[in-house]
Amino acid sequence: MRTIKDLDIENKKVIIRCDFNVPIKDGKITDDTRIQAALETIQYCLDKNAKVILLSHLGRVKEEADLAKNDLAPVADRLSKLLKKDILFSEKTRGEELEAVIDSMEPGDVLLIQNTRYEDLDGKKESSNDEELGAYWASLGDVFVNDAFGTIHRAHASNVGIASHLPSAVGFLIERELNALSVLENPPHPFIVVLGGAKVADKIGVIENLVTKADKILIGGGMAFTFLKAKGYEIGKSLLDEENLDFCKRMLEEHSDKIVLPVDFAVTNEYSNDEEYRVRGINEFHADEMGLDIGNQTVEFFKQVVEDAAIVIWNGPLGVYEFDQYKKNTDELLKYLVVNDIKVILGGGDIVAAATAAGYKDKVYHASTGGGATLEYLEGKKLPGLEAIK
Ligand code: AMP
Repeated sequence: MRTIKDLDIENKKVIIRCDFNVPIKDGKITDDTRIQAALETIQYCLDKNAKVILLSHLGRVKEEADLAKNDLAPVADRLSKLLKKDILFSEKTRGEELEAVIDSMEPGDVLLIQNTRYEDLDGKKESSNDEELGAYWASLGDVFVNDAFGTIHRAHASNVGIASHLPSAVGFLIERELNALSVLENPPHPFIVVLGGAKVADKIGVIENLVTKADKILIGGGMAFTFLKAKGYEIGKSLLDEENLDFCKRMLEEHSDKIVLPVDFAVTNEYSNDEEYRVRGINEFHADEMGLDIGNQTVEFFKQVVEDAAIVIWNGPLGVYEFDQYKKNTDELLKYLVVNDIKVILGGGDIVAAATAAGYKDKVYHASTGGGATLEYLEGKKLPGLEAIK
């Protein structure tokens, strides 16, 4: 993969596609992790006297009312504080005003262009990779750096579109992600996969791709119940993905030696944090109960399986971690991996949020920043944002 170090950016106009899709409440950024993660690539370009032009999406823009909600201006302010320099901001995503600002830029200047998805209001131009829009944005710079890992699985004008017209490379953030995830192409053994979360449907591709490579797949979270139902267990009111029962049955038949299911659960009658829970063995479920976390015996068993792992990849929490009562065993397994220095890659989205909340995110081998992008990588799919750069 071509990286930023392979590009000649000295004194060039460098367009960087960043992922500034940060949570904003009442005009204030509540978590700037993604902006911080972009600094290394931006600073590298500034050190090379480049004129830096930044593009990013923020949220979704479907109607007029979404424009104000997804204004990138607060990101320009935060970026200015973090880089300790003034940042130019263009309210417009195209046109003479924007071009005039770029013409006036000096080496070392940074310009942030308004949310790329403002272009979605008129015919989804950004999200459908409109040919003319990609060519237009490319015409604003000399070289292109894609550092937005979170959208690498999508073909949009601001990544694939621009990359088709300019010398392109990935930035440091994407390079780090790829380096960490590439371990999985030829994983050291024992290679253990931990899967949780709500939907089997979202993980089918991951299971199919990893089941042959992994030594064990530990399944927790809501998705465990469809597997348990497929084995004939009573699961009460627990989450069930009826449509994927057959898939689970097939996996259990073909890979019974690899798939490890929970043996006990924290169960309750209501989906809430206030009801008291009980711990039940898998044979003890009542028809009006639902399982919202794995139980103590299961987590102890999971610990034994990961104990000697050469690498663990983990996607999806083992319980409803948003409720204090049901995050316990996700935290417990995370802690075990960290304390015992077991190499673990957290595969984006909820499990990274759980690790952040529990204070483990910076202690694991790698916490991937992309949700959907990481999943598609784990599924072994080709990622359009990377293909365009190759
Ligand atoms: P996913 O996006 O498929 O990784 O799912 C993440 C979600 O799964 C989180 O919001 C969790 O609350 C949810 N989850 C985990 N365990 C359970 C469970 N036992 N029952 C219902 N939802 C769960």
